[in-house]
Amino acid sequence: MLNLKDKRVLILAPHTDDAEFGCGATISKLIEQGSEVYSVAFSACQQSVLKQFPSDILITEVKEASVELGIKKENLILLDYAVRTFNYKRQEILEDLLKLRSDIEPSVIFMPTMHDLHQDHLTIAQEGLRAFKFCTIFSYELPWNNLQFASSSFSVVTETHLKKKINAITKYKSQAHRNYANEEFIRSLARVRGTQINESYAECFELIRLKF
Ligand SMILES: [Zn+2]
Repeated sequence: MLNLKDKRVLILAPHTDDAEFGCGATISKLIEQGSEVYSVAFSACQQSVLKQFPSDILITEVKEASVELGIKKENLILLDYAVRTFNYKRQEILEDLLKLRSDIEPSVIFMPTMHDLHQDHLTIAQEGLRAFKFCTIFSYELPWNNLQFASSSFSVVTETHLKKKINAITKYKSQAHRNYANEEFIRSLARVRGTQINESYAECFELIRLKF
């Protein structure tokens, strides 16, 4: 069993809700176990928020969701890239990542997969690997954006961790219309992933690099 206790963990979230969907239960577990978890979101998608909500609502929501998962206020980093423009800003994003690397000195990274179909997610995965190639790297799954996903590593989670993930996602009222933003889907995926390793619940990750 790989133990990430006492490790400094950095989650790369292209958009404010990606960390919760991709690894919310694992974030909750790692914090409970004593890891120092940081999360950086590169965009609050102000350009694509539905009209009935204030354009900065995702900033409010990510703060609430992070509290639910146990992420310290000072460990949540919010950057201000415009949604769907990350590939035009590749070098700036890489420089931000290099600064985070020297400021935080993480040893474990969670990020989207190298096969993610969303252009912003792919940019973060590519630049994330470039910046953190000497760290352990796991890619989290977002099935609606993944054409393929290797089930190469699993984080066993409890009902409590899963409930924290569901509660965190529930904070995103502006995203509640998405067909994957509901308890039934989140529980089902955790059950499928748990069943693959003979546990009740799990989150699945593609292992990109392992340093131990
Ligand atoms: Zn996203």
